[in-house]
Amino acid sequence: MKCTKCGQPAVINMRQHRLGLCADHFVEWVPQQVQRAIEKYDMFTPEDRVLIAVSGGKDSLSLWDILLRLGYSVEGIYINLGIPHDSYSDVSQQKVEAFAAAHDTPFRVVNVKREYGESIPEVARRKRGRSPCSTCGLVKRHILNEVTLREGFGVLATGHNLDDEAAVLFQNSLHWATGYLARQAPVLPASHAGLARKVKPLIRLYEREMAAYALVRGIDYIYEECPFSRGATTLFYKELLDQLEAESPGAKQQYYLEFLRARADGRLLPADAGKPVLNQCQKCGQPTTAPGTCSFCRLWDVEEAAHEDSNGDS
Ligand code: SF4
Ligand SMILES: [Zn+2]
Ligand SMILES: [Zn+2]
Repeated sequence: MKCTKCGQPAVINMRQHRLGLCADHFVEWVPQQVQRAIEKYDMFTPEDRVLIAVSGGKDSLSLWDILLRLGYSVEGIYINLGIPHDSYSDVSQQKVEAFAAAHDTPFRVVNVKREYGESIPEVARRKRGRSPCSTCGLVKRHILNEVTLREGFGVLATGHNLDDEAAVLFQNSLHWATGYLARQAPVLPASHAGLARKVKPLIRLYEREMAAYALVRGIDYIYEECPFSRGATTLFYKELLDQLEAESPGAKQQYYLEFLRARADGRLLPADAGKPVLNQCQKCGQPTTAPGTCSFCRLWDVEEAAHEDSNGDS
């Protein structure tokens, strides 16, 4: 296949766009897609300071690279979860450090065990019944929100791509989880004084395009998936959507982008759907749906854990 723009050999064929591109045109095209998403959904402007959550994987490191190339003011944050299998957390931190050093760009590390006394697998083991992934999600959300606000960033960006979002949409619509559907958006505004603005600039790009971008740009990322992701239902939904895409190129993109259109037009849900009543956590001050202390603070509350154990609660 040849590049649609210049006739050189193509490195990627994007059937949903009827577009094949050579390496040079592809690394030009990807940031254009990201810029389109940033503008269309009013994510941020060059005046905003953007904090990007980086995991060491292809999506977040590529997003960092793209935002730097587009000239945005962006800094990284890496959360070391303390996942010991094959030194997963340490290796991914090294990838982030190497990227930041090569691009001479600032980043900070929050080490969960050092900061709070236990790694994610350790907390999950103590809190029997709470999976490592739900513990991890809760801890990451809390830390990212806190650092974004405390350090005065205008916005927090994450590397979710179109495949990630389509899989979550599939899961949420299979369960008709209307609250989650209402909150699934490319931009989550700072709807409360204690909530940071969150954006997903990669939502127009397929996962395979992000892998190709990282490869062509020579971005060294961690290839292994987190060991806890094995068997995750979202991976199964991704496979199903890939089968659909193979039969009908563009199906994934249409499914997700049409959802966003319908959502934005108010054809799906009332405007105030999914807006929970928020209280202020008595311990950390972050917004929480629970009365009293938030679930993050309760995670580290050993007395409560002992109480749960004695009740046989999980
Ligand atoms: S797979 Fe689970 S534990 Fe691993 S990074 Fe993702 S949410 Fe965290
Ligand atoms: Zn070309
Ligand atoms: Zn709290």
